[in-house]
Amino acid sequence: MPAIWFFDLDNTLHNASHAIFGGMDERINQWIIQHLHVDAAEADRIRRVHWKRYGATLIGLVRHHGVDGLKYLEDTHRFDPRPLMRFERGLARKLVPLPGRKVLLTNAPSIYSRQVMAELDLARRFHAHVAIDHMKVFGQFAPKPSKRMLRQLVARHRIKPHQAVLVEDAVANLKAARAIGMRTVLVRGFTRSATRSRGYVPAHSAHQSGRASCVDCCVHSVAHLRAKTWLLKQPTIR
Ligand SMILES: [Mg+2]
Repeated sequence: MPAIWFFDLDNTLHNASHAIFGGMDERINQWIIQHLHVDAAEADRIRRVHWKRYGATLIGLVRHHGVDGLKYLEDTHRFDPRPLMRFERGLARKLVPLPGRKVLLTNAPSIYSRQVMAELDLARRFHAHVAIDHMKVFGQFAPKPSKRMLRQLVARHRIKPHQAVLVEDAVANLKAARAIGMRTVLVRGFTRSATRSRGYVPAHSAHQSGRASCVDCCVHSVAHLRAKTWLLKQPTIR
C-alpha cells in the first residue's frame, strides 16, 4: 500500500476549468502587460509559451524576464476562488479512509491552494500542503514536473519513491514521477472540460498522450481511488 498519496489540486480534486482557469489566464496576461510592457497578444503568447515549456508560467517569467516570482504569484492569485469552484460533495469522506498519508502537491501558490482546500473540506485532513512557493531546489523554483524536486520531496518524507503515488490530471507530471520510481494515477474526469480551456491542456493532457505508459492506473474521479488501490500493489512495469 502507498505510504503517501501526493495529490495535485486543479482538475484533480476540483474542476478548475469550469471558471477558474479562464479568469487566471486573463489575470496573468494583464500582469505581463503591466510588468513587461507588451501588448495583449504578446502577453498571451508569452504566457502560453512558458506554460507549455515549463509547466508553470512562473518559471519562464523568472528565468527569462527576471520577475519577482513571489510577487507575481501573489498579484495573480489574489482573488476568492470559492464561488468559481465545481467539485464532488463528500470528497473528504471518500478520501480520508484511503490508507496512507495524504499530501497536497500543487503548482498553484499557497495563497490560492489554502482557500481551495478549505472549501473542499480537506485543509485539515491532509498531512501536509506543498504549493509552488515551497517547491525550491538549490534556491530556485522547481515545480512539477521537476524530477529533482520530486526526489527531494520523497527524501524529506523519509520514504522510497515506490511508496509514493502521484495523483494527477497532467500526464507530463506523471511521467516525471514514474521516471524517479513513484507510482502514478491519472485523473481523467475533468479532462474534457480542461480541453476546452484555452492554452492549458495541449502540453499535458491525457487526450494527447492517450493511456500513457507512465500511468499505473486511471480513475474518473479521486473518489474512486479506494476501489483501485489494488492496482498500486502490483510491481511497476517499465
Ligand atoms: Mg492539475
